[in-house]
This record gives sequence, C-alpha cells and structure tokens, in this order.
Amino acid sequence: MLSYTFSTMSGGKSTALLQQRFNLISIGKRVVVMTSALDNRYGLGKVTSRMGPQCDAELVNPETVFEMTEELRSADHLLIDEAQFLTKQQVKQIHQNLCAESGLRVSCFGLRTDFMGNPFEGSSALLALADSLQEISTLCRCGANATLNQRVDAHGSPVRSGDVVEIGGDGRYRPACPRCFY
Ligand SMILES: [Zn+2]
Repeated sequence: MLSYTFSTMSGGKSTALLQQRFNLISIGKRVVVMTSALDNRYGLGKVTSRMGPQCDAELVNPETVFEMTEELRSADHLLIDEAQFLTKQQVKQIHQNLCAESGLRVSCFGLRTDFMGNPFEGSSALLALADSLQEISTLCRCGANATLNQRVDAHGSPVRSGDVVEIGGDGRYRPACPRCFY
C-alpha cells in the first residue's frame, strides 16, 4: 500500500510524518524513515518539524535503488519525507518491489508542484501511482485555500524563473491560491 500526502511549502508535511511515526511506534510497529539528501535545511539525515520534534532518517539519493533489504523485511512501515525529489523510476520501484510484491506499507510526504506550478518528477509519479492521496490544506495570505508555492525575493516580490531546487529558503516561499499566484 503506497500513500502520498502532499501540501505546499510550510504545510506541515514533516509534522504529519513525525506524528504518523509516533502513532505507529506507540502500537509496537517497526518504522524506517528516509528523506532526500537534497534537503539539508536541518542537517543531513533528519526529519524535523517546526513544532520541535525530530527523528533520524536514512538518506535517499537519485541513485538509491528501492528493493527489499534485511532492514525493510523486518519493518512494518516505511515513511519517506521530501518525496517530490524521488525519481519516476524510484517511485515505480517502491510501488512494485516494496508495496505490490512484498506488502510493505509506504507513506510518502512531499510537495505537489514547484514554484512555477509544474509537478516535481516524484510528485507526478506518486500522484499517478499511489493507492491513496491526502492533501494537507494550507491557507493563502488572502484566506483562500493555497495549492501553489510562490517564490519571493528578499522584498517579497514574486520570482517566476530560476532553479527549481533552492533548498533551505523556506522564507523565500509562501503558499498561494491560484488567483494570488498568477
Ligand atoms: Zn490568495
């Protein structure tokens, strides 16, 4: 079973992952946590919430191959943060090798689109293949539901081009509704 929980930047995805980990561990489940090596906001190998709690995580690179390892065989659940950075191939490996063929439960957490409104490779594959999809809703500054990530410069003006991945600049993004985004 593969699930994808998505939201905008600052939408509380990592908090949701940490809460799910806590819930699973409290009923005796064995949990493995992974996150992208691309995200080093809080130091490599950690899932951290603005709310405080954190946990260690194994790093995923674009070269990581998802197949059943000893560790995963003895786990009940795999949680993956920053899943938008997975490749399409990796999402297929997770869906087939871990979920369909081995019955592992995998919950991915990530963004839906980049600051130009395009899906990330991992998000696109997860939205297509996940057995279950959940959106964590966030609000735009105008009060409407935010579905997009607006990148802003130091003065708060929208930025519409540049590298897709500009990690570490949470303050450079704000959740936006389509009307404010465009
Ligand atoms: Zn708005």
